Amino acid sequence: MRAAQIIKHKEPLRIGDVADPTPGPNDVIVRIEACGVCRSDWHAWMGDWEWVGLSPELPIIPGHEFGGVIEEVGREVKNFVRGDRVTAPFHEGCAHCSNCLSGHSNRCDHLNIFGFSYDGAYAEYVRVPNGDFNLIKLPDEVDTLTAAAIGCRYMTGYHGVIRSQIQPGKWIVVHGAGGVGLSAIQVANAVGALVIAVDVDDAKLEKAKQEGAVATINARKEKVVEAVKEITQGGAHASIEALGIRETILNSVQSLRKGGRHVQIGLTTREEGGIVDFPIDVITAMELEIVGSIGNPHSEYDGLMSLISKGKLNPKSLVSKEVELNNISSILEDMTSFKTLGFHVITNFK
Ligand SMILES: [Zn+2]
Ligand SMILES: [Zn+2]
Repeated sequence: MRAAQIIKHKEPLRIGDVADPTPGPNDVIVRIEACGVCRSDWHAWMGDWEWVGLSPELPIIPGHEFGGVIEEVGREVKNFVRGDRVTAPFHEGCAHCSNCLSGHSNRCDHLNIFGFSYDGAYAEYVRVPNGDFNLIKLPDEVDTLTAAAIGCRYMTGYHGVIRSQIQPGKWIVVHGAGGVGLSAIQVANAVGALVIAVDVDDAKLEKAKQEGAVATINARKEKVVEAVKEITQGGAHASIEALGIRETILNSVQSLRKGGRHVQIGLTTREEGGIVDFPIDVITAMELEIVGSIGNPHSEYDGLMSLISKGKLNPKSLVSKEVELNNISSILEDMTSFKTLGFHVITNFK
């Protein structure tokens, strides 16, 4: 099959033929129709994230947000057959640890990630381990391009909004209007929250407005904390940080009102190396809540798929460009300078 492999950090990917994957007893082979290009792939390509144990052994095929059609199932697979249209979360669970059993597959004790733990979907086919547990059937109304758009950033934004516990009519700030941020904005707006988008890029803020933000703040032009406090008359009820940058994390925490809830989605950059100082006394005195949010468990896919099927959410509106596998190296290079806007999805693997 055709595939793109990271051979060496920061060097162009090797694009060409590799051996087709073969299924073990519980595996499913999916023919990929669409695979998103994610900033996490860029981090893998850069060689980041060894501080969270997420620096894959090379060579590896990246790609963890896909939609496709089942080509082959292992002999033990019971819930799926050849021809089923499917997607999977970027994180694969073991199905038997206490987290998987309690509906928190995103916290699995034996979590694996496509393109980090094993080969991903920048390829014509991908092997999905433990297919019965990890695959999600696509409703008729949800096409494979939408599935690719959901696979990582969108479902991460969706779970982040659930973690924020935001109520209709309350203020939520989304720091960072990239893929995850725009997704969170669309979802938070759909559930009736009042969304403020913060970014340094006016084009991204314009897109945030189209996706439902009622106010925007350009962090290069305005003081974020003061601007949020003014718009919300005292501070936001919740905020989501989707960048992992020290300054935006602190802005997010300090923009909250008493009892507010900060949701950390962004993993930090090389600069922070996983450590950021927090204004602890403020957190204590204001009874702020700080929670992490990673991926999206299987148990929350039903709600997500229903909202998409019924037209309440439209992840595809965030797909900015369909691209070819052949051009993948130049897209990763553009991501270094944050030139890309929205989702790029590979739909041509020839
Ligand atoms: Zn598990
Ligand atoms: Zn991703």
